[in-house]
Amino acid sequence: TRACLARIETTEPKIDALLSVQGEASLARARALDAEGPDARKPLWGVPVVVKDVLCATNTPTTCGSKILENFVPPYDATAVAKLKDAGAVIIGKANMDEFAMGSSTENSAFKVTRNPWDVSRVPGGSSGGSGATVAARQCFAALGTDTGGSIRLPAAFCGCVGLKPSYGRVSRFGMVAYGSSLDQIGPLTRSVEDAAQVLSVIAGHDPRDSTSVDAPVPGYAAALKGPDALKGVRIGLPREFWGAGVNPEVLASCRAAVDAAVSAGAEVVDISLPHTDYAIATYYIIAMAEASSNLARFDGVRYGLRDKDASELIDMYKRSRTRGFGDEVQRRIIIGTYVLSSGYYDAYYRKAAQVRRLIRRDFEQAYEKCDLICGPTCPTPAFPIGGVVDDPLTMYLMDIFTISLNLAGLPGLSLPVGLGKDTGLPVGLQMFGQYFKEDRLLAAAHGLE
Ligand code: GLN
Repeated sequence: TRACLARIETTEPKIDALLSVQGEASLARARALDAEGPDARKPLWGVPVVVKDVLCATNTPTTCGSKILENFVPPYDATAVAKLKDAGAVIIGKANMDEFAMGSSTENSAFKVTRNPWDVSRVPGGSSGGSGATVAARQCFAALGTDTGGSIRLPAAFCGCVGLKPSYGRVSRFGMVAYGSSLDQIGPLTRSVEDAAQVLSVIAGHDPRDSTSVDAPVPGYAAALKGPDALKGVRIGLPREFWGAGVNPEVLASCRAAVDAAVSAGAEVVDISLPHTDYAIATYYIIAMAEASSNLARFDGVRYGLRDKDASELIDMYKRSRTRGFGDEVQRRIIIGTYVLSSGYYDAYYRKAAQVRRLIRRDFEQAYEKCDLICGPTCPTPAFPIGGVVDDPLTMYLMDIFTISLNLAGLPGLSLPVGLGKDTGLPVGLQMFGQYFKEDRLLAAAHGLE
């Protein structure tokens, strides 16, 4: 813990990954754990961990990267955070993020822009960019992120870490401030596949406080890892839509080399198609914004966070508090989300998106008749320059083209670092899609390629 705090002190001025650091408190906790001694029931005994600022944790601010929650300190722990604590982890800080997890670069944080430790002129990805950067800068051993449309996998790819989005329902969302409730999942960003497996084993499982968490046994994910042997006989599906035009040649080359390595280890490659990929962005942004507009209605200046004191009456107070508290991207999404849900437009937009979501799910069901695992790039490009895309929301949304179908289908996915681009020297992530609740097989395959 002391070493991680020292590392934070030297690297934080360059990368701005964290919104708060629990220096004294985490040293005290580490000392207490040390006095108790190691304990088999505490698999993360004394491990310094960072948590995305969208997850409630007692005694720490939980801002969601938003002015509207600037001084909010939750009275309870998110289940994932409580489980980390029970497992002996030391929560040393809270990670920066795009406001309410809306974005792909962490430039939408109301407080600061996180920089990519590999090249500080570039973004770390988003929305869990603080979580990716803190792991890549060796400030901690693991971080929690959340993934609604790629927010764990994208920063993992840009920062050269492992990022795992579990199946919908695998990890309790209790205490995660909701963005798109039917899409959100919490998962780890780590330095290795084994670390991701260890953290998932701790945070997974049923929780009576989240009715969408599934009551299924949690396997010991780390015990299932067995190196390259796991790839023998595995049929890897390569979706045509992911490997063609529009993907940066460096990204393609590194991903291709990783698939070749899998073949050398005994895997077999199968050509597949996910024919509705072209509709994924439109479908996702309708559903996610609709859910967000509903979820963010709770920030009314009354119950939590910022309240405008100059308002003359109630409606005026709502308006002023929300106008001052929410940033531009969040306001854009609330407006679009409200529009697609409004009577007269609901059938044309929201219902249509829900129907296309079914087709996207079916694409995966059909693909998995021919293969066991699906691989492609996590993102069409490596990390882009800070300020390069942020003024162009549509281009920013396109960064999610390869990650969002997975959330629409509820499946697990992982981004694995597969080397550095030949010319840019920036990390490249290979995305691996697994089958529903088969995180053990997904992690084993990723471990085989690591
Ligand atoms: N970039 C996507 C969005 O802005 C995904 C974000 C996320 O997964 N939280 O909605």
